[in-house]
Amino acid sequence: MIKNLTCIVCPVGCNLEAEVEGNTVKKVSGNECKRGDLYARSEIAQPVRTLTTTVLTDDGRLLPVRTDKPIPKDLIFECMKEINRQTVSLPIKIGDVIIENIVKTGANIISSKNMR
Ligand code: SF4
Repeated sequence: MIKNLTCIVCPVGCNLEAEVEGNTVKKVSGNECKRGDLYARSEIAQPVRTLTTTVLTDDGRLLPVRTDKPIPKDLIFECMKEINRQTVSLPIKIGDVIIENIVKTGANIISSKNMR
């Protein structure tokens, strides 16, 4: 089976073609560098994403936050449910941990901004 993907590792956005047999990637083409090959193999085995979103603060504003490392794509909805239940007390500094080990992914939700 052929799977078509767009590499998101850099802004070039190469169109990748992965030959997949069962759970194994046999060949990747269309990549302009090795990172595209690694991306296609990882994306097919277990897609991951860095989650960026906002969380409500105690004064009603929204604080931009993100995961400190990529998390499995299929857990993003569950993570969003947990984030949406939170309210953050200000002040907050960039990099402060808002939620530790969210949904047991090993990733923390951290602040992307200083906010008073
Ligand atoms: S394959 Fe390489 S050059 Fe192409 S988008 Fe991915 S990282 Fe960029």
